[in-house]
Amino acid sequence: MCRHAAWLGSPRSPAVLLDEPEHGLVRQSYAPRMQRHGMINADGFGVGWYDPVSGEAVRYRRSIPIWTDANLPGLAGAARSGCLIAAVRSATVGMPIEESATAPFADGRLLLSHNGRVRAEAIRSLVDSAESTCDAAWVAAAVFARVRGGAPLGDALAEVVTHAGTKDPEARLNLLACDGATVAATTWGDTLHVDDTGEDGVLVASEPLSDRPSWRPVPDRRLVLVTPGGARIEPL
Ligand code: GLN
Repeated sequence: MCRHAAWLGSPRSPAVLLDEPEHGLVRQSYAPRMQRHGMINADGFGVGWYDPVSGEAVRYRRSIPIWTDANLPGLAGAARSGCLIAAVRSATVGMPIEESATAPFADGRLLLSHNGRVRAEAIRSLVDSAESTCDAAWVAAAVFARVRGGAPLGDALAEVVTHAGTKDPEARLNLLACDGATVAATTWGDTLHVDDTGEDGVLVASEPLSDRPSWRPVPDRRLVLVTPGGARIEPL
């Protein structure tokens, strides 16, 4: 399973998800504390944010372990955005290890990460194509198609997760997505935590990025919606 994290609030560097907190995603890539499947997340990583002038999504993905990328600290340190997403990957057996199989997947301003696994039959009926044969790329494409069709981001996530999760009872479908103005996430088979006690923003992550007691676990089968007004958690 991968680990993913997002921030919505005052402009910050992606480092707030990666290596500023003691259990950021860089640390979680080799020493996750709550990972239920897989030991380390060394099959790639990705970081996404929004250009403060154009509002366009910017994305940086590699298929190497995050700790081996010497350029990342400088790049992440130079970026600032009020909406950030990042993921470190432990590829599911049989899935390709390549940049196009690595989160965040993107479609315009939408960025999405999938922590879990799902059988091809359960997801490929929802959309015609994806950028990679990786299950996560198909999940992302299915969500993107729904948003392009007019669905709000949270509804699109809920629809794809409940559909695929019903077709494949063993599926794990923790999704994390953002569009520059909101962050949405699902829990379906793995851990997710929220820290919404800060004055200037909300953090969402597979597992807490720090030992701050303000992190709270999200129960399974929930939809998390984060807007500038705060975090809302609903049943899926
Ligand atoms: N199944 C996805 C992949 O192979 C996600 C893997 C994960 O959560 N570890 O990339």
